Amino acid sequence: MNPVDLVAERRQIGAAELICLRDGAVSFGADLFPALTSAELQAALPSDEAEWQITLPVNVFLWRDRGRTVLFDTGCGSAMGASGGLLPRALAQVGVRPETVDGVVLTHMHPDHSSGLTDRTTGRPLFPAATLHVARSELAYWFDDAAMAGAAPREQALYFQESRAQVAPYLPSAHRFEPGAEVFPGLQALAAPGHTPGHTAFRLGDVLIIGDLFHAPALQLARPEAWVRFDVDGPTGIASRRRLLSLARRDRLTLAGMHMESGFQDPPSTAG
Ligand SMILES: [Zn+2]
Repeated sequence: MNPVDLVAERRQIGAAELICLRDGAVSFGADLFPALTSAELQAALPSDEAEWQITLPVNVFLWRDRGRTVLFDTGCGSAMGASGGLLPRALAQVGVRPETVDGVVLTHMHPDHSSGLTDRTTGRPLFPAATLHVARSELAYWFDDAAMAGAAPREQALYFQESRAQVAPYLPSAHRFEPGAEVFPGLQALAAPGHTPGHTAFRLGDVLIIGDLFHAPALQLARPEAWVRFDVDGPTGIASRRRLLSLARRDRLTLAGMHMESGFQDPPSTAG
């Protein structure tokens, strides 16, 4: 991909189009995967990751179908530093003006997914015509004062307060959906809890939009038990990863991931 080209990949799904846009990248240390040893990481990751810097792209998916323009997640906005927040430029590259986006569907409310919703300096929504679609359980968790009180100060600011501010302008008209709901005709929400309590995958034709079910598919497709340190509930996340991976294999679904280099990826036919 050309460095200035923020359109990673396009997929046709019937008459609709799903486009993987780059919002930027985020970097982590090797402690991203607490269950894995250094040797396991070294075997699974390219050798240039030897400094134990794991850099993941941040993807946003744009769905255009029958005159409807919908985003899946919104990238980092200004929450994660200068390496993110490129979504407005990516949209310009595909000729989409933010005010023409009808809907924003969130996989979850972590800052690299929801912080592109609202301009924090003005409090104005960046997609003023969009309806926000978010799992009821996800909203409930990040608005739970007791959960916030139990978090470290950094997490209170970066996760709870940030996500509350990001969704605030959209809340009066937000669509809170339940697991299994058909969010739009042909788009089904599939609960994938663990990474966050309301983390959701979405089935669209033969594509499964997986959010953060996999951070490093090269590693986690073979080792679904490799949870990440940001998981609110690691064991539940492992169960979600196994369940949706077997669904994808059974129904031959292509994975569309928010941190996958390729944007779209077919799961291996058997467990590695
Ligand atoms: Zn993420």
